[in-house]
Amino acid sequence: MLFFISIFARKMYKVILKSKLVKAKKSGTYSRLLRKYRDRYKKVAASAPAVDRVDLYAEENPITFSTDNQSKSVDSQTINDVTLKSDERNLIADIRKWAAEHHIPQLALKSLIGILNSNLGLQLPKDPRSIMRTPRNIDLVPMKEKGQYWHQGLESCLKRIFRDMSTSMSISLNVNIDGLPIYKSTTKNFWPILCNIYEFPEIAPFTVGIFYGIGKPKDVNEFMNAFVEELMSLIQSGISINGCQLSIAIRCFICDTPARSFIKGVISFNGKYGCLKCTTKGRYSMLSKTMTYPELTAPLRTDAKFRSMEYTDHQRVYTPLVKLPLDMIQDIVVGDSLHLLELGVMKKLLTGWRTGSLSLKAKWSTSQKTEISEYLVSVKFPAEIHRQMRSLEFVSLWKGLEYRNFLNYYGFVL
Ligand SMILES: [Zn+2]
Repeated sequence: MLFFISIFARKMYKVILKSKLVKAKKSGTYSRLLRKYRDRYKKVAASAPAVDRVDLYAEENPITFSTDNQSKSVDSQTINDVTLKSDERNLIADIRKWAAEHHIPQLALKSLIGILNSNLGLQLPKDPRSIMRTPRNIDLVPMKEKGQYWHQGLESCLKRIFRDMSTSMSISLNVNIDGLPIYKSTTKNFWPILCNIYEFPEIAPFTVGIFYGIGKPKDVNEFMNAFVEELMSLIQSGISINGCQLSIAIRCFICDTPARSFIKGVISFNGKYGCLKCTTKGRYSMLSKTMTYPELTAPLRTDAKFRSMEYTDHQRVYTPLVKLPLDMIQDIVVGDSLHLLELGVMKKLLTGWRTGSLSLKAKWSTSQKTEISEYLVSVKFPAEIHRQMRSLEFVSLWKGLEYRNFLNYYGFVL
């Protein structure tokens, strides 16, 4: 008897949950507006020019570069001196800078070159890829599931940066790895490995390697091996430039939460044993669909245990990072405000107050929502805030910056 009651209770619970969900989805004008906004967004994305993209395959229409066909680095490809005068070379350099700064599509650049050549009698290269010095040959390493990887190399980057070095010195590197979308309409993206030099913050970050493919790289070993191997040999022997020694150390890895779990080869941050710093065990709430970590005094994780793969509930795969002289716990920084505060707590609270998903008692009424939305879109901003706020109807589409502005500025006034 008790058995049947429990089955019945469970079924009723599921029905109630489902009806709540359906109700929330149908509520008010929200879903209609959301659909309208998405349709508009899709139309804009579809009408974007197809040439406005990074072209890794500049094979058709050979470019008039120097005769050295073996050269592969961007720097070694210089436009043929015989055919161009020096002021034309300066003009090309200026156009290249302008096109890169203002994200000029290649088609537009080609048209501009045509106008300049025909009206001013110039002989600028007709192919925009010559102007932009798009490399013809790129060593791409195929990766799992149609991914590709390009390794520019840490040593070549550092040699270029310190080419005028006249005294020996030591530097330490901050490494950043993250994914970024390159098209509006597909899921293909770049995962660059970026470095900057801690001692010289004025030097812009440089790209050591880039993964290109759908979603994130499938295998952390495949993705990071070339970088880790090169970094290890540089840490051991340094680089000799102009007879001076450049010693290299690794300072830390700075990544957002999903990328951090990925490069460490551990389970996701919201898993049962997801904490990167301690061995706390999470408890999942079916009601709020959240994982909480009530245990606050769990033993801390240690570098030695991480390296010997002792955290079997936490570590998913072997990561090549363990080869580096690095504290696997201390030197991989946790806690980025974007995912914890803005897209974390603030998003959860605002969505909860709007839909009642936190608690029905804490749900804003329609008139309250209208009042808040009207305030958000009408408020005037100081000059340093660039993004205009959108109404509460679009909370699920808000960018991190909008949540941050709400948290730091508007939330107080409201
Ligand atoms: Zn913890």
